[in-house]
Amino acid sequence: MRKKIVAGNWKMNLNLQEATALYNELNQTNFPNDVKIIVAPPSLYLSQFSRNQNYLSLASQNVNDNEKGAITGEISAEMLSAINLNYCIIGHSERRALFNETDAQIKSKLDLLLKNNISPILCCGETLKERESGNASTIVLKQISEATKHLSPEEFQRVILAYEPVWAIGTGVTATTEQAQEMHATIRTYLTKIIGDNSTEISILYGGSCKPTNAKELFACKDIDGGLIGGAALKADSFIAIANSFS
Ligand code: PEP
Repeated sequence: MRKKIVAGNWKMNLNLQEATALYNELNQTNFPNDVKIIVAPPSLYLSQFSRNQNYLSLASQNVNDNEKGAITGEISAEMLSAINLNYCIIGHSERRALFNETDAQIKSKLDLLLKNNISPILCCGETLKERESGNASTIVLKQISEATKHLSPEEFQRVILAYEPVWAIGTGVTATTEQAQEMHATIRTYLTKIIGDNSTEISILYGGSCKPTNAKELFACKDIDGGLIGGAALKADSFIAIANSFS
């Protein structure tokens, strides 16, 4: 049975005091037993928080696509693994757009994470222009296949997917449950073609203005296994409410 997951991406928000207070509050919260709770604070705080993982698991927001070397300012998968991180977000649309990350780099990141026993949370999603031109599923499936087509079914099972329509991220506009479920079903059908029965074990999260008021409806969809949450993950009460939104 695939996992239900709620993951919070704090992005470049919260000073150390604010982040510590939020982390401690969430880490003492009694979340539903069957929901995996992950938070991705700014990387500077990971080492400190990782010594105290109680109800929470930690994710990095990024990793470099090289094993090591003269790459100033970057962090490797091996370094993340050394502080007991189990998850890392890759392919987020902000990194694709702001840092020109390519599918090839995202594939390298994914491979290095798997090699270091870290589960990648692989983001995919179309822009508004791509949706309006009718290419949304082609774009999304290409992003997934470019990063994962070489994986065995066993390797693929360690990957978490996050469908995040770019037009819904940070905009307050959420995909309708129909739009979200339709894309998740398209992804699941693709996975079945590629890895057969193992596809039923892969969690596909929805991301894009998910909040307490719409999480229940989204999480009730057959192929939506939880959420990757941005803005609403920055406050304990809204994040906890989202984590409690599975029926
Ligand atoms: C995100 O950036 O991954 C995200 C889902 O952000 P928001 O929830 O703020 O739309």
